[in-house]
Amino acid sequence: MEAKAYEEFRRRFFERVWVELDPFEEEIESTERLPLDRVVPILRDMQAFGLLVPEQYGGLGLSVTQYVPVLAELAKVQGAIRVLVHVHNMTAHAIADMASEEQRAALLPGIATGQLSVAFGLTEPDHGTGADVGTTAIKVNGHFSINGRKHLITNSNIASHFIVFAKTQPEAGERAVSAILVERNTPGFTIEPLPETMGCKGGEHGQLTFKDVLVPVRNVLGEEGRGLEQMETALEVSRLFIAATSLGTAERAFELSLAFAKQRVTFGKPIAARQAVQRYLAEMAVDIHALRLMIADAAAKCDAGKRIPAESSICKLFGLEAVGRVTDRALLVHGGIGYTRKHRIERLYRDARLNWLEEGTPTIQMLVIAREFLSKDNPLDH
Ligand SMILES: Cc1cc2nc3c(=O)[nH]c(=O)nc-3n(C[C@H](O)[C@H](O)[C@H](O)COP(=O)(O)OP(=O)(O)OC[C@H]3O[C@@H](n4cnc5c(N)ncnc54)[C@H](O)[C@@H]3O)c2cc1C
Repeated sequence: MEAKAYEEFRRRFFERVWVELDPFEEEIESTERLPLDRVVPILRDMQAFGLLVPEQYGGLGLSVTQYVPVLAELAKVQGAIRVLVHVHNMTAHAIADMASEEQRAALLPGIATGQLSVAFGLTEPDHGTGADVGTTAIKVNGHFSINGRKHLITNSNIASHFIVFAKTQPEAGERAVSAILVERNTPGFTIEPLPETMGCKGGEHGQLTFKDVLVPVRNVLGEEGRGLEQMETALEVSRLFIAATSLGTAERAFELSLAFAKQRVTFGKPIAARQAVQRYLAEMAVDIHALRLMIADAAAKCDAGKRIPAESSICKLFGLEAVGRVTDRALLVHGGIGYTRKHRIERLYRDARLNWLEEGTPTIQMLVIAREFLSKDNPLDH
């Protein structure tokens, strides 16, 4: 988006986050339900479903650099709202990247307005993290017959279309994974909710079961057999988005801690006057500043068309550690009352813990980072 239009969009978007979305916090945390009938129309009106959809398909076409602060702002208010917007946009971004022109034209305009809703189906209860795919899709008379299970699939309650990663030639090993589009009401495809989560309450991350589910072969996104490569590319960008989420949550926890430290008086002085508390605040500032700069570097490289496997895993890993430290310290600055729902620190602390898991655990980020440094001279210098 052109710079001046972006500034205006961003100003208005941020204003609406606080005026229209933030007030849902109490209701969502109490009921553990996201009131979709009221939240989705606001998000649609804010154009939150088309943030990363290219302009030619009716989206806003934000660059990664422009998207990062928008997602970070959403990560300051109740977590399920951020998760809903994040998964929709990261899946839309993946579709824009991996689909054929015909598929893009058919899907992206609906995705941009939120009329179509999309989910990313990778994780499985019976197989391991990431590339260890057990779901199969075998060709039968111009169709794929899909069998298997996925779980923890965000937006499973609302998605009209799921990207399902499945082995299209199980005998050919992991190379033969494909990304296949499965529509919600396809016979044999069932969706069940999973129990409520620790934080980001109100979202749904269901279990998908495929029993002889027939989908046309043309539903493969892009090229058959390229699913793992497509998944890596999608997760590479999306790990940066999780780092942006960590940044937003950390910024909010810091703002609240600064305000609390100035107003809480013990032994006749605000706690902000105590060196021990100042040290917590200083450490929070260092983490936030470092994360912000790291993300800016990776986002700029991504917008310049470069691959960023090392940068994005570094940002994701540092981000989850940084927001972990910041929310720990924020809780300490708030003292015992911070452990109650009287203060938002309690929610931010819980919401932040999802950042360990989304788009891969710390172990997986370490694996990617080590792989990049072992195979390239300087993977960050490009
Ligand atoms: C709220 C929520 C929403 C989610 N949304 C989605 C979604 O929309 N789509 C989706 O596909 N997934 C989603 N996930 C799943 C998430 O991406 C995974 O939970 C995460 O990547 C970890 O995978 P796993 O649960 O299979 O862990 P496991 O693979 O069971 O790992 C368990 C532990 O073992 C370690 N481990 C596993 N294998 C290895 C190995 N080979 N080497 C070293 N260590 C290893 C892991 O690092 C981890 O610490 C979501 C999860 C949550 C909690």
